[in-house]
Amino acid sequence: MALVNEHFLKLPGSYLFSDIAKRVNTFKITHPKQDIIRLGIGDVTRPLAPACVEAMHKAVEEMAHAETFRGYGPEQGYDFLIEAVIKNDYVPRGIHLANSEVFINDGAKSDTGNIGDILRHDNSVGVTDPIYPVYIDSNVMCGRAGVLEEATGRWSNVTYMPCTSENNFIPAIPDKRIDIVYLCYPNNPTGTTLTKAELKKWVDYALANDTLILFDAAYEAYIQETDVPHSIYEIKGAKKCAIEFRSFSKTAGFTGIRCGYTVVPKELTAATLEGDRIPLNRLWNRRQSTKFNGTSYITQRAAEAIYTPEGKKQIQATIQYYMDNARIMKEGLESTGLKVYGGVNAPYLWVKTPNGTSSWKFFDQLLYEANVVGTPGIGFGPSGEGYIRLTAFGERHDCIEAMRRIKQWI
Ligand SMILES: *Cc1c(COP(=O)(O)O)cnc(C)c1O
Repeated sequence: MALVNEHFLKLPGSYLFSDIAKRVNTFKITHPKQDIIRLGIGDVTRPLAPACVEAMHKAVEEMAHAETFRGYGPEQGYDFLIEAVIKNDYVPRGIHLANSEVFINDGAKSDTGNIGDILRHDNSVGVTDPIYPVYIDSNVMCGRAGVLEEATGRWSNVTYMPCTSENNFIPAIPDKRIDIVYLCYPNNPTGTTLTKAELKKWVDYALANDTLILFDAAYEAYIQETDVPHSIYEIKGAKKCAIEFRSFSKTAGFTGIRCGYTVVPKELTAATLEGDRIPLNRLWNRRQSTKFNGTSYITQRAAEAIYTPEGKKQIQATIQYYMDNARIMKEGLESTGLKVYGGVNAPYLWVKTPNGTSSWKFFDQLLYEANVVGTPGIGFGPSGEGYIRLTAFGERHDCIEAMRRIKQWI
C-alpha cells in the first residue's frame, strides 16, 4: 500500500485567488455593463525585451543544425550566463563569487520551495508576516511548519514577525534563536524595503545565533533608492549565513520563460546533529544534479541577453514603465487620504483600509464602488488584515482610469 505524505493534508486549500474570482464573477453577473480593472494579479504584462527575443531566435536556429545543436547542459547552468550574472549583478557591488556558487534555475519559486530538501525537518522557521505563501507551504509539506492553529491562522513551529504600519514594516529581530529565517526584500506583498543598516541587524543576528537566512531578492531590479541593498552579500559576513534567490521573472518579464538563479556561497555551512559543519553548496549541488536537469539553452541565452547594453536599456525602460504606474497610483491614492506603503522600490502598493475596515470588506467596496480588483492583505498572512495589495504591473491607461474611479468614489 502506498501511503501519502500526510503533511500535505494539513494545508488548507489555497482559496485566496479562487475566492477573488468568485466575488468578481458574482459582480459581473449582477453588473454586466460595468468594466473591471484588475490591479490584483502579480504577473507582468509588458512583452519581452527585443534583445531577449533576438537571442532566443538565434538559439533556436543553433538547435536546428547538427553542428550547433545542444542536448543536456550542465545542471547548474551554462558558464556564459553564470559569468554574466556575476559580472553584472555582483562585481559592481564589490561582491566576488566563483562560478560554482551560482546555480541557474527555472525561477525563484522552485528553489525557494525546494531549498528545504537539504535542511532537517525539525529546524525552526521564521517568516515576516505578511509573506509570499511558498515559504510557509513548502515547510508544511515536509512537516517542518508543525500544525495550523485555527484561531490565529499561524503554524506552531513558525515564528511570525509582523510587518505593519506600526513598526514601519521593519520586522523586529527575534528575542530567541530561530534556525531558518526567510526574508524577501524589496517585499512582496508590502512593497517595502530594508535599508543596509536594517539588513545588517539581521546578518548580525544570524551570525550570532547560527541562523540560516533565505533571502529572496526577486524585486531587486526595482530598487530606486541608494540606501537599499540589492544583495544581502553587500553586508559583511552574509556569505557565512545566507542563500540568495534571484529571478528574471519581474526583472525582465520572464514569468512565462522561466529563469532565475540561486547563490549558495562556499563558506556557508550548517551543522549535523554531531556538530560537524557541512557546506550547503555541496548539498545543493548534489540535490540539483539529482533532481534538476537544467534550464533550457534557449532560455539561458535569453537571460544572457538581459546583460547586453541593449538588453539592459530595454529592461530598464520596462521597469521604469511599471514604476511610473506605481508613482501615478501612489499619488492618486494618497490624494484621497488613503495611507499607502511601498511603490517606491517595488511595483506593489500596500494600502491601509480606512477606519479599520477588513481586507475583504474593502475588497468588496473597491469592486462595487470603483470596479477595481485588488488582493486582500489577509491572504498573505494574519498581519495583512486591514490592508489591500495593488500591483503596478498593469497597462498605464488602466492605472490612470482606476485612480480616477477611486478618487470619485472616496
Ligand atoms: C514573483 C516572485 C518570485 C519569482 O518567482 P519565479 O518562480 O522566479 O517566477 C519569487 N519570490 C517572490 C516573493 C515573488 O513575488
